[in-house]
Amino acid sequence: MKYHIAVVPGDGIGPEVAAQAQRVLCAVGDIFGHEFMCVPCPAGGAAIDKTGVPLPDETLQTCMKSDAVLFGAIGGPKWDALPGRLRPEQAILGLRSAMALFANLRPARIFPQLSAACPLKDSIIQGGLDILIVRELTGGIYFGDRGRSEDTANGKFAWDTEKYSWAEIERILKIGFQSAQKRRGRLCLVDKANVLESSRLWREVAESLRGCYPGVELSPMYVDNAAMQLVRNPGQFDVIVTSNLFGDILSDEASQITGSIGMLASASLGESGKPGLYEPIHGSAPDIAGTGKANPLAAILSSAMLLRYSLNLIGPADAVECAVEAALDAGWRTADIAGMDSTALKAAGKLIGTKKMGDEVLRHLKKN
Ligand code: NAD
Repeated sequence: MKYHIAVVPGDGIGPEVAAQAQRVLCAVGDIFGHEFMCVPCPAGGAAIDKTGVPLPDETLQTCMKSDAVLFGAIGGPKWDALPGRLRPEQAILGLRSAMALFANLRPARIFPQLSAACPLKDSIIQGGLDILIVRELTGGIYFGDRGRSEDTANGKFAWDTEKYSWAEIERILKIGFQSAQKRRGRLCLVDKANVLESSRLWREVAESLRGCYPGVELSPMYVDNAAMQLVRNPGQFDVIVTSNLFGDILSDEASQITGSIGMLASASLGESGKPGLYEPIHGSAPDIAGTGKANPLAAILSSAMLLRYSLNLIGPADAVECAVEAALDAGWRTADIAGMDSTALKAAGKLIGTKKMGDEVLRHLKKN
C-alpha cells in the first residue's frame, strides 16, 4: 500500500531526529511492502524564517490531506522575542486545533536496558514500568471561560472554568478503553470526583461505557492519589485516562520516572479515519542542536506509534520497536542515555550520535 506522510521537521534537533525516523519508516516499508511518500513541510521557526508565519497554509493543508503527520520539534531562542501569535509554538497549537486532535497518547516506559536512568529505587520499579497516559487535549480548563474582574469587597480576582460535555468525555474514554483492550486490560480513570462536578460526569460516562468493553477492568482514582501512586507503585498502572489539566501534569511526572526524555514518543489523535500527529515529547534542544548528539529514538518510536495507530500496520510497528530494543541490547547509547558509563562506553566505541543510532536501528530492522 502507498501512504502519504507529512513530515514536519521543525527547528533545532527536530530535523536531525525526524530524518532518522523517516529513514526507519522507509526501510520498514521496504521490508513489509508498503510505500511511504514523505512530504517535508516547514513549521515553527523554520517557517517563520521562510514565510513570516509559524504555520503556513500549505503546511496545514498537506498535513490535513496526509495519512499521518510525523513531527520533529519546534522553537528556539532565535524566535523567543516574537509576539505570541507569531511564535513557533503556534504551529503545533494550530495543527492540533485544525486537525481536531482531541486525544494525546503518551507511553511512559522504562526500557530494562536503561533502568539505571530511573530516579526511583530498584525495589519500586522491579516489576518494570509501562504506562500509557491518554489525555484529553482540546477541552477542559485550558479552553473554558476565563476572566478577571475587580470589586470593592475582594479587590482583583480571576477565574478559569473546567467544562466538559458528555460527548467530549465519551470520545476520549473510548480511546482509553480501546487502548486498554490492546494492552493489559486495565483502565484507571483519574479525576477529582470527590470535589468537582465535571469529574462526576466523567465517572458517569465511564460507567455507561464499561459494559461495551467487558475485557477491561475500570478503576477510578483521585488525582492527588494518582500523583502519589505514580512514584510509590507505578507498576500498578496500565492505561490512565484523564482530563487535559490532570493529564498535562501526570504525563510529565510519568515521563520523569523513566529518566530519559530522548526515549519518549507521543501520538495526538482525532476522529477515527482522520490523520494523527506523532512526535517525540522533547523539544528542539537548542543546547545540542547541530552537534549530532541528539537521541533519535523518541522520534523513531513516534514513527512506530504512527504505524500502529494511524495506519494499523501492527507488524511494521512491532518491527520498529523490536529494532530499537535490539540496538539498546547491543549496547549502543547516545550521550543522554549513557548514564554513569559514558567513559567506558566511549572506550568501547558504543557512545554514538544521532545518525549512527539511526544506522543501528536500521541494521536490526527485520520481519519478526
Ligand atoms: P528540550 O526538551 O528541548 O530540552 C531539555 C533538555 O533535554 C536539554 O538539555 C536537551 O539537550 C535535552 N534533550 C531533549 N531532547 C533530547 C534528545 N532527543 N537527545 C538528547 N538530549 C535531549 O526542552 P527545553 O530546553 O525546555 O526547550 C527548548 C525549545 O523547545 C523551546 O523553544 C521550547 O519552546 C521548545 N519545545 C518544543 C516542543 C515541541 O516542539 N513539541 C516541546 C517542548 C519544548
